[in-house]
Amino acid sequence: MKDIMIDQFQYTVGELLIRNKSILDLITKFQDSNARVNRGIVKAVTQCGCVKVNGKKQATLADADFDEIRKSMKTHLDGKLCDNCRDFIEKDIGRNLFYLASICNTLDLNLYDIIIKELDRVKMLGKYNLR
Ligand SMILES: [Zn+2]
Repeated sequence: MKDIMIDQFQYTVGELLIRNKSILDLITKFQDSNARVNRGIVKAVTQCGCVKVNGKKQATLADADFDEIRKSMKTHLDGKLCDNCRDFIEKDIGRNLFYLASICNTLDLNLYDIIIKELDRVKMLGKYNLR
């Protein structure tokens, strides 16, 4: 079911993309849409205030095991997105996915296949996949 939905999304995006069909336009639109996602997150902090950033150095646990390291790493984010900020950020992420799917179409790549391959890599590397 999910694979059909992703394929349908990628196909529909391909049908709707007309103005920015050039790979050059797509690359810059993708980058712009990514910047909008980041801007939405920053605005949730600086203009709305529903979330706060409390950044500081992450703890370094040289001899700690994976679970200890995972527990000690912080998001540096306090609070929860309000409905308004959540709505804006979701729309911006959707727009970002639109251009990602468009780039996949142009390069003849299948988004679902990419997700499956990445999932396999993440599962295979498991805790050694420290991103
Ligand atoms: Zn908010």
